[in-house]
Amino acid sequence: MEFTKLRLTGFKSFVDPTELNIARGLTGVVGPNGCGKSNLLEALRWVMGENRPTAMRGAGMEDVIFAGASSRPARNYAEVTLTIDNTERRAPAAFNTADQIEVIRRITRDAGSVFKTNGREARARDVQMLFADASTGSHSPALVRQGQISELINARPKARRRILEEAAGISGLYQRRHEAELK
Ligand code: ATP
Ligand code: MG
Repeated sequence: MEFTKLRLTGFKSFVDPTELNIARGLTGVVGPNGCGKSNLLEALRWVMGENRPTAMRGAGMEDVIFAGASSRPARNYAEVTLTIDNTERRAPAAFNTADQIEVIRRITRDAGSVFKTNGREARARDVQMLFADASTGSHSPALVRQGQISELINARPKARRRILEEAAGISGLYQRRHEAELK
């Protein structure tokens, strides 16, 4: 599964619709302090189902919505769309007929957030599982947050094992087993 496009509207500092084409290979984001580099990475995490406000550097989930600036009023919603290439059929079986997958997450003030995959409403869980199997989830070690390297160095063995499992792409398996055991 390759990410090909990220689109943001009203997400943190990206108040106007912003579209980024993601080329194959390594992508670097450069720019002056405060220009929104970390916000971009958070948008990627968020659309993949991240539900911890702290991972988005906020107190509540609605903090991802553009909060306004001296010259612009606040927004009522934030939306992020991630386009994924599925021509190699790496996504779960439900997407077997789709060459392309579009995941949309939208949060509206006082109404919470909704997900859509290829136009159909989806549960947060489905979206998280879609990425968990491809080891690209919102907790993926492929996304390295500022300060995370030092956290990793100081991590306890159990926490470090979780990171390795995620990297190996087997954490989705554990989550499904856990869900099966609860049933
Ligand atoms: P650095 O190089 O210092 O790490 P950065 O490029 O990673 O900077 P970000 O942390 O992504 O920058 O962006 C910070 C900017 O985003 C700040 O100006 C902050 O005010 C703005 N911002 C964050 N959340 C919101 C929000 N909800 N509404 C409006 N602006 C926001
Ligand atoms: Mg930053």
